Amino acid sequence: MAISNIKRFDAIVVGAGGAGMRASLELARAGLKTAVLTKVFPTRSHTVAAQGGIAAPLANSTEDNWHWHMYDTVKGSDYLGDQDAIEYMCRRAIEVVVELEHMGMPFDRLDNGKIYQRPFGGHTQNYGSAKMAMRSCAAADRTGHAMLHTLYQQNVRANTQFFVEWMALDLIRDPQDGAVVGVTALEMETGELFILQAKATILATGGSGRIFYASTNAFINTGDGLGMAARSGIPLEDMEFYQFHPTGVYGAGVLITEGVRGEGGYLLNKNGERFMERYAPNAKDLASRDVVSRAMTTEIKEGRGCGEHADHVLLKLDHLGPEVINHRLPGIREIAIKFANVDPIREPIPVVPTVHYQMGGVPTNYMGQVVVPEGNSMEAILPGVYAAGEVACVSVHGANRLGTNSLLDLVVFGKASGEQVIKDLRSMPSPHRSLPKDAGEATMARLNRLNTATSGERVVDVLTDLRRSMQAHCGVFRFPDDLIRGVEKMKEIEERSKRTFIADKSKVYNTARVEALELENLVDTALATIVSAEARKESRGAQARADHPDRDDKNWMKHTLWYKEGNRLAYKPVHQKPISVQTMEPKVRTY
Ligand SMILES: Cc1cc2nc3c(=O)[nH]c(=O)nc-3n(C[C@H](O)[C@H](O)[C@H](O)COP(=O)(O)OP(=O)(O)OC[C@H]3O[C@@H](n4cnc5c(N)ncnc54)[C@H](O)[C@@H]3O)c2cc1C
Repeated sequence: MAISNIKRFDAIVVGAGGAGMRASLELARAGLKTAVLTKVFPTRSHTVAAQGGIAAPLANSTEDNWHWHMYDTVKGSDYLGDQDAIEYMCRRAIEVVVELEHMGMPFDRLDNGKIYQRPFGGHTQNYGSAKMAMRSCAAADRTGHAMLHTLYQQNVRANTQFFVEWMALDLIRDPQDGAVVGVTALEMETGELFILQAKATILATGGSGRIFYASTNAFINTGDGLGMAARSGIPLEDMEFYQFHPTGVYGAGVLITEGVRGEGGYLLNKNGERFMERYAPNAKDLASRDVVSRAMTTEIKEGRGCGEHADHVLLKLDHLGPEVINHRLPGIREIAIKFANVDPIREPIPVVPTVHYQMGGVPTNYMGQVVVPEGNSMEAILPGVYAAGEVACVSVHGANRLGTNSLLDLVVFGKASGEQVIKDLRSMPSPHRSLPKDAGEATMARLNRLNTATSGERVVDVLTDLRRSMQAHCGVFRFPDDLIRGVEKMKEIEERSKRTFIADKSKVYNTARVEALELENLVDTALATIVSAEARKESRGAQARADHPDRDDKNWMKHTLWYKEGNRLAYKPVHQKPISVQTMEPKVRTY
């Protein structure tokens, strides 16, 4: 039986985080009939958790410009970032932040009324000098919350149509040329299945941090856009690069923003030593995240960890004083009291590196168009489909993202993809393409299997094994035997995920069914990550291999592409040529 519930739009955006809502705002303001699908109420999307700020070289407190920002981002990416995309992002940063300000985003202010900016890891002045740039525009330690509410209000004003608690399941592609013509989706409240047909579909489903056991990510971050893309034949790019944030609360994983170190906090080992001075003599605690996470892990491994089990380090900020902590970091104080049982006004916070951000994703160019190898081109534009935000790999973050560059990525590429859709739709014939005859059949087959299976694997068991395997085999430091074993385990987990069953077959708000469907996306994402990591025989950015400790530009200055079909890999070149400036040549990366 085919899906008979069909809704038609000019454009669909899957995801109502910062990227999705910045894209939909552009579309709705242009008068396009725009639908936004989201698993949760828009202002509960994970962007709400972003704390420390959004990067823009406004130069409100220190000298700054986009060239320095670009240099830091290229270096931060360990030279794997595409330099054209990085230039594009850094050049549009001031514009998009000022736009947010004019929309009403409540940034903190300096005494002169300008936006308050704080230093952040890896952001420097004058092409990597020892002086840090104050580049992160912040609304206390709740910048994402402020951004998301601002964008939601503007979208309501622009008549964006929200489909809240709707889960997109699969992309629908036209078999003639592969163009994406819409998505299938589950309305969670009723359990009804729909086809949402559109001339343009933007994926903005965020990250997939839940493939790991200890993560700063929300439970909804299950890599759905990645699964949708992979199942429909689109490769996933650079999935091996997963960022560990240095300061997750020990035992809970909840994030303590790098803004704490930006305000003057620092890390200590069990001897009370400020150990980052040894690993990064210039930037110290504000070195890039991969560098700080590795230093912390080394301290713990070498026996200088704190606590009964010597398995964490301490983040000290009491010297900042109650006024700074209460005014600039109120959320952090609350988190420390609730999750670590310490008041940072008096005591240090126990912290460990925690999984945080996926640098890889659905391959796009800097207009948000999804690009795939086809014929002679490694980057042919796939019609009808775009991606923005953490689900996308533009690639501006390369092998390692700098803090505050993600919120910037959301608004720059959210806006850019919206602009590109408007341009593309203007040149398209006005009626929608007809839907392919088998539209929705793959989705129905997945759901039918779940609806009829009466025994098999429990979703929670497969999920727990998946997360534990990723945590054990694909961590801050990666070992060859672990990776090989991890790939085998993930293949077994993939097989088990095909035999899952749910006991509750009811339709109305059946979260068991949603979790079973999410598991399929997590499996694809985890498999892509570990297979890509095992294959890359070098250390670069977030990938630190014990057997190949150095970066190998000769053999590995290239992007990975993972295909679900055949679980195979391909590679494509890095864009080392920026748009208007000279290439920033790879150098040894020190801070
Ligand atoms: C704790 C924390 C703090 C951070 N702090 C900062 C910071 O200070 N600065 C910075 O630059 N970056 C920060 N980051 C990173 C940054 O917040 C994220 O990368 C970014 O918010 C992701 O935004 P997004 O729009 O791509 O996705 P999200 O905000 O995660 O939104 C995803 C959307 O997709 C929807 N969705 C997902 N799957 C489906 C589906 N199948 N069907 C329908 N809808 C779906 C969800 O409902 C949601 O609306 C932080 C990250 C974390 C975890």
